[in-house]
Amino acid sequence: MSSREETLTFADLGLQPALVAAVTALGYEEPTPVQREAIPLLIEGRDLLGQAETGTGKTAAFALPMLHRLTELKGTGRGTRGLVLVPTRELAMQVAEAIHKYAKGLGLAVLPLYGGAPMHLQIRALERGAPIVVATPGRALDHLRRKTLDLDSLRMLVLDEADEMLDMGFADDLDAILSGIPEERQTALFSATMPSRIQAIAERHLKSPARVTIAREKPAAGKIPRVRQVAYIVHRAYKPATLARILDMEDPAATLVFCRTRLEVESLVETFHAHGYRAEALHGGMVQRQRDHVLGLFRAKKADLLIATDVAARGLDIEHLSHVVNYDVPASTEAYVHRIGRTGRAGRGGTAITLAEPREQRLLRVIEQFTRAKIEIATVPTVADLRAKRLDLTRASLRERLLAGDTDHVRVIAESLAEEFDIVAIATAAIAMVHASTGTEQDEREIPIASNKPTGAMRDRKPARAAKSESAPSRDLHGGDVPGEPRVRLFVGAGRQAGIRPGDLVGAITGEAAVPSRVLGAIEIADKFSLVDVPASLAEKIIAALRQTTIRGKRVTVRHDRDE
Ligand code: AMP
Repeated sequence: MSSREETLTFADLGLQPALVAAVTALGYEEPTPVQREAIPLLIEGRDLLGQAETGTGKTAAFALPMLHRLTELKGTGRGTRGLVLVPTRELAMQVAEAIHKYAKGLGLAVLPLYGGAPMHLQIRALERGAPIVVATPGRALDHLRRKTLDLDSLRMLVLDEADEMLDMGFADDLDAILSGIPEERQTALFSATMPSRIQAIAERHLKSPARVTIAREKPAAGKIPRVRQVAYIVHRAYKPATLARILDMEDPAATLVFCRTRLEVESLVETFHAHGYRAEALHGGMVQRQRDHVLGLFRAKKADLLIATDVAARGLDIEHLSHVVNYDVPASTEAYVHRIGRTGRAGRGGTAITLAEPREQRLLRVIEQFTRAKIEIATVPTVADLRAKRLDLTRASLRERLLAGDTDHVRVIAESLAEEFDIVAIATAAIAMVHASTGTEQDEREIPIASNKPTGAMRDRKPARAAKSESAPSRDLHGGDVPGEPRVRLFVGAGRQAGIRPGDLVGAITGEAAVPSRVLGAIEIADKFSLVDVPASLAEKIIAALRQTTIRGKRVTVRHDRDE
């Protein structure tokens, strides 16, 4: 692979070895464009104004240099030295979790602070000392006023998804926070869009910032491949099951699946083996001989699925792909175009499938704009679709067998049974046996419909604003929701720590309340609780049913979310 020499590594960006080791352990093979640009600038100590969206790797783009700087600039006291402000509770948890993973071995603790969680626990954690805090503006201000959050020794501030924070009405809170923190600090502001309100904040609070825009170059018209482009919106936890189901429906000939990390590659290979696919991994951690072996299998059609990272797939010359799958929305439009260009070659039709999380939908639109081609948003096949498809396959193989003949050796069985039973009844029983023996009746759980945006469930909002931010009907892409039908969120008093996964809640609700999973909206699992978005008309029924039952063996509190 000739382009390997040109690959820029995390070490080349100037990050200290412990951080390089941490991202390598996470399976990141190379920095994304926003990381390549932002990390060296931030390590240098520059302020930064960055235009980048979710899914581009921007969290690591500020988190890694923040960790790098904070270990370099050893601080004194127990005050907070790094602060990240984010618009929602959900994002606060996600960003804190990411920083925690990157900080392995550095001894820098990170604390998320968001509304809706018990104040006394947050205060106790702050008293123990929190060098890095990830907070929603409302809750950060609350702690500043109580003097439980000490920002006197703040060295680095990040405003993440700044446009979203303004949209949610946090402008005043941001002003109040920004006016009370040390001038001597480094500031980075990230925003998906750069309206004048954001520019004004940047002018007031950033010092001659470097600008980083994740340029999405327009590919030349001839370069845009003509392939069917489809995207599915799905929550991360359901991606493996979703992709398996989609491929079962598509029945692809030869497929290349792109993942972000080595770990993802490896776990997907296992998922697909369990589904009976011949899947092979291809990533940068493999030696050339192993790679050649895998490619050999794929070319000889002894493997159906090749699951690869971008780095490993670079320079691959494979001709007969029927499908290319983006397991995540790629970090740049160029990467997208490059990836999907691998199918539909030589005038043959191809399909490009992209799995996007609800938050990444904006990225799809950006890609559409630049490629000037439509990406169809498709509905994740339901259990019923899958069953129908499987029956179709059984029917097709029976037809083939009938046309091929060569069944004389069992004909006598049919004839002898025909003396006792109706011939259609015999055929039906035989088909049922054949169908069952295809062993495909597993994986029968519905995959919940992912809504367009977090429906506000995890937003840290103030009561006065609640009415405004909550009155919008949930925007459901998959038609699982009747437009305008009011929805509410239910609080379930068990979360990640109790081992709850979205499937447990879907199972309990569909099973106990006899409500179809299709009507369920976003499900958010926090450490100690979960929130489920349901149609208001079914809320009481679901609450009553869940109160009668146990989830993961325990009785749990179920009620309307108090933030409603
Ligand atoms: P973000 O845009 O920060 O929300 O990141 C999107 C996803 O990309 C997260 O799941 C990260 O773990 C992952 N990610 C970030 N940087 C890289 C990288 N250099 N290589 C692979 N995955 C990455």
